[in-house]
Amino acid sequence: MAFVMKYEIIPRYLTGPSQRRPKTALARCRFMVAHDTGNPGSTAAANVSYFENTRNEMSSSAHLFVDDKQIIECIPFLTGPAEIAYHVVYNVTTDNARYGDDANDAAGAVELCYGGRISLTESYKRYVWVLAYACYRYGLNPATDIVGHYMLDPARRSDPQEPLRLLGKTFQSFVQDVVNEYRASLVTEPAPEPQTRISAEDANKIIGFLSASYFTAEDQAAKAEFHRLANELRRISGQPPQ
Ligand SMILES: [Zn+2]
Repeated sequence: MAFVMKYEIIPRYLTGPSQRRPKTALARCRFMVAHDTGNPGSTAAANVSYFENTRNEMSSSAHLFVDDKQIIECIPFLTGPAEIAYHVVYNVTTDNARYGDDANDAAGAVELCYGGRISLTESYKRYVWVLAYACYRYGLNPATDIVGHYMLDPARRSDPQEPLRLLGKTFQSFVQDVVNEYRASLVTEPAPEPQTRISAEDANKIIGFLSASYFTAEDQAAKAEFHRLANELRRISGQPPQ
């Protein structure tokens, strides 16, 4: 199965090693964390350039920022060998209970940009798509392997509930949108044409029966037809005609 690449993912990696991008490999991706920037009106590009400028001032980061026009990856995850990003504090235990690991060590982080001049409907489409694509890439189940930041750290965080509320969506209906996008984006690749459709050995056995018929055939037309069929068998078994 292949996945329809509806949108472009632009790699714009933070300089590393730095606090925000330590350049540590993400050993495995077990789930996805859905975030929002909590900074209405700030675009994906603006967030990434702010992160780049402050890369040595703090460690918090995310893999991807999504707005109504762009999907920008600032920590390698879908466009390069995956690295860790610090997007959920280590001392919460919800991630460990649900997925057996800390989000920073086992999850991808996607930030939704909204507010101001950003079209939330368009941002949301890209956000849903990139989460579906991440599930495809890492073999995750979109129905169970996407969690909101607020679910992992309810005491401190509420994202991405505000943009979902603005869209009239619950977290549940958002996950369903990702499931639907995932299903719609999966396409079956055409099976490759087999090089040899029948072995030469099997073809020659059948040709043996045909030649018996060829010699007993009364008229020329029947003989010509057996000859043609034998050559068809030689062709599809990779043998020269006779
Ligand atoms: Zn968050």
